Amino acid sequence: MIVEIICVGTELLLGNILNTNAQYLSKKLAEAGAEVHFQTVVGDNPARIMDAVRIAFTRADTIILSGGLGPTKDDMTKEKIAEFFGRKLVLDEAALRNLEGFMNRMNRETVKKNIRKQAMVPEGSTVLYNHHGTAPGIILEENGRSCIMLPGPPKELEPMFEEYCMEWIRRRTQCVLVSMNIKLRSMKEAPVSIVGEAAVEEALGDLVNGVNPTTATYAKEDGCLIRVTAEAPDHEEAMKMMAPVVERIKEIFGEEYIKELKEDI
Ligand code: ATP
Ligand code: MG
Repeated sequence: MIVEIICVGTELLLGNILNTNAQYLSKKLAEAGAEVHFQTVVGDNPARIMDAVRIAFTRADTIILSGGLGPTKDDMTKEKIAEFFGRKLVLDEAALRNLEGFMNRMNRETVKKNIRKQAMVPEGSTVLYNHHGTAPGIILEENGRSCIMLPGPPKELEPMFEEYCMEWIRRRTQCVLVSMNIKLRSMKEAPVSIVGEAAVEEALGDLVNGVNPTTATYAKEDGCLIRVTAEAPDHEEAMKMMAPVVERIKEIFGEEYIKELKEDI
């Protein structure tokens, strides 16, 4: 499963907000065993949203969009996706009731037109009801291509992704990606022979050419990080596959120079 993340919002392009949705989604997708090759950010512009979707589907089978599902004119994600797939937007009664309930609980004046716009979904799609806000999410599938649309606010996107999408993705990938992070001590504390990322990579020898598990190094301000990642049918199997690699790394560097060893979550 190859996924492209498309975050919609002019605010993101102007640097007004940090794109935490891309980080969250990428982490979760890795955990669910999906490959992310591109993250795209596009403003609230209909032609450019359409371009982004068209390009994404030339290199991914699944696209996940965040933002632009709200009630205002600049929210146009599902309109463009419906157009891309040649589907009509239809009213989802359950989404409408959910929205009315949410508005009542929030003691807000019911703005009928706005609510209706948010309860419109492309015909034949799966609706992800929003328990933390108003706009529902949507999953649309056609001929091996899938599109997941999620609301922009992280407080809505994250629980919705957990509730509906993780399982949906896992069913399709049939695997999990699990990583172990091995943090080495800082430059000052480490022996000269393993100071710096290049030296660490050298010391790892053939491990860095491993395919499954993979082993990679990352230079961090307070020392080098080694990440071992395994792809397996389940978590237990992934841990089993990583165990000998982790043992080998302990041997290479010596436990006293390993500051921290923990699963990346
Ligand atoms: P709403 O119904 O709130 O309008 P929406 O689905 O239309 O939701 P946007 O209008 O695109 O989403 O964004 C609403 C808010 O969500 C933004 O002002 C910002 O606070 C947050 N947000 C949007 N996209 C992101 C992102 N990629 N990363 C982090 N926060 C985001
Ligand atoms: Mg909006």
